Amino acid sequence: MSRTCFLHPHTPAVAECTACRQPVCEVCLTPINNKPYCEHCAVNLHQQSPFWAGVFSALVPGLGQVYNGDWFKGVVIFLTGWLVLPWLYGIVDAVLVAQAIADGERESSTIPPGYIVAVLKVGVPVLSCAYAGLAWAAVSALLFTLQHYVAP
Ligand SMILES: [Zn+2]
Ligand SMILES: [Zn+2]
Repeated sequence: MSRTCFLHPHTPAVAECTACRQPVCEVCLTPINNKPYCEHCAVNLHQQSPFWAGVFSALVPGLGQVYNGDWFKGVVIFLTGWLVLPWLYGIVDAVLVAQAIADGERESSTIPPGYIVAVLKVGVPVLSCAYAGLAWAAVSALLFTLQHYVAP
């Protein structure tokens, strides 16, 4: 069975896209670092932005990893972000990985930045409340301790 291009049903396929596995013809074939990609995936690869990966990671620990398609790493960094060091590591990692994806050195399930921005609009207020709540609980506990054990 000879396959035809998924965009041009009458043109024989010459390769398979590395990302989406669709057959592509000579016209649609877009090589990046010697790997074949279709036009759509080639555009997505180049859209992976190290700048936005860094910004997302700075706003919410682990979000840059989610943007890069590293869900598991993102969750681990999110849960340990309050230790500060994992958060900083996450910013550097997100920028480097996004650069590798943009260069075609790494494959990724790319998530559009617009989707992440939508999540941020909900996530940042929720996270702020959670951190404010934690801070309030810590201060209350401290005051309670002071009142009961320090005050005469
Ligand atoms: Zn593709
Ligand atoms: Zn084609």
